[in-house]
Amino acid sequence: MFGAARLLLFCHRRGRAAVALAALVAGFGGAADADDTPSVIHAGTLLAVPGEPSEARKSVVIASGRIVKIADGFISPAVAGYPDAAVIDLTDRFVLPGLIDSHTHVTSTPSASFQLDRVVHSDAHRAIWGAANARDTLLAGFTTVRDTAGYRGNSFDSVFALRDGIKAGKVPGPRLLVAGQGVGSLASQGDFLGYRSEVMDLFESRAMCSGPYACRDAVRYLVKRGADFIKMVPTGWATGGERGGDQEHMFADEMRAVVETAHKFGRKVTAHATGLEGVKSALRAGADSIEHGRVLDEEAIALFKETGAYLVPTLLVTVRFTDHASGRVPGSARNVSRGSAPPLSAVAEAWFDATRMAYEGGVKIAFGTDSAITPHGQNAREFALLVDKVGMSPMEAIMTATVNAADHVGLAGEIGKIEPGLAADVIAVAQNPLDDITALESVVFVMRSGVVYRNE
Ligand SMILES: [Zn+2]
Repeated sequence: MFGAARLLLFCHRRGRAAVALAALVAGFGGAADADDTPSVIHAGTLLAVPGEPSEARKSVVIASGRIVKIADGFISPAVAGYPDAAVIDLTDRFVLPGLIDSHTHVTSTPSASFQLDRVVHSDAHRAIWGAANARDTLLAGFTTVRDTAGYRGNSFDSVFALRDGIKAGKVPGPRLLVAGQGVGSLASQGDFLGYRSEVMDLFESRAMCSGPYACRDAVRYLVKRGADFIKMVPTGWATGGERGGDQEHMFADEMRAVVETAHKFGRKVTAHATGLEGVKSALRAGADSIEHGRVLDEEAIALFKETGAYLVPTLLVTVRFTDHASGRVPGSARNVSRGSAPPLSAVAEAWFDATRMAYEGGVKIAFGTDSAITPHGQNAREFALLVDKVGMSPMEAIMTATVNAADHVGLAGEIGKIEPGLAADVIAVAQNPLDDITALESVVFVMRSGVVYRNE
């Protein structure tokens, strides 16, 4: 990603004369790149608010990183009220709000040697690799991403540094909301497992808790470290046979303690829950959302609707399953079937069925991919699964990654729409995604907070 390609990727809205300088600034300095130069986007087709109809020939006026107004037709900078504004020609593009992925692990990189990497790679290493992952994610059209914890003991400063560096304009990436570490039970999914005892002792996590008082303490510790939200881990993992798989590993009083403490600090709680009982218990404890939820029943659907919690299905995980089963991915110690776990194809089909049941039952759904299991920057592949396997319309699938996800992460007044007053997070694709949702896998324009990071 150097040379001409890099220049193109950071091509700035101020026009060709400023491209080289902007590329240097965006690539190596950064803060100066987030300037206040206004711009006017001429959108051939604009989907300003997913869920409402798209419109042809619209102008979007942007200043100080925010949407200022939307006008009919292609207006000039003078008419827009900003004579010095740059015009961005997207007259043959489909323009929509920047996408939001509610579930990634941005400082983790897909690897066949995940188990070894966790003890070999320093947190500094993860920050550098994470910066590359964040850039790939942004350039794929995802302008806001939640990082749902790293599972490396207490060693997770890298993701906070990355969040803060992106915010300060030091490195390109999506707006990051981070959890740091998952709060859960010793010996379960959130813990550091599978090593000789001295190594496990070394990485013992303060976020693993037994009893409600310890769980309160774990949440407070994460808030102190800088968590924007709390990831609770009440169950194992769908295919982790030797740890009891999907079973519920936290007690109800522990889950309630996590939720109540997080809410006292104004943090939302999302629960990694793959097994049915864990999903229900987390919802009863007041979790704001469920990650994965790969097995659901009528009672679970009713609990979702009663509590208003979101489901984040992360169906893209199943692509990793099938890639692995077909031998396209080399053996990995992570997220693959072991021991007495069910066959991966059956896990995938049940997962699609559960998500379809939730969708048809009216559960609120937010987009999430669990990227890190699959490569960063391929997040948009989730859309086709939502349409083909769950039965959503393309518009509904887009809503999961815009208006729904913005509400889910608590930023409904900031992102998810192209509306006056909101952050100027705008992307474009060449084909109409309402006709073919896979058009979103080929993003050609990316603006975050008014700064252009990609324009082809
Ligand atoms: Zn995950």
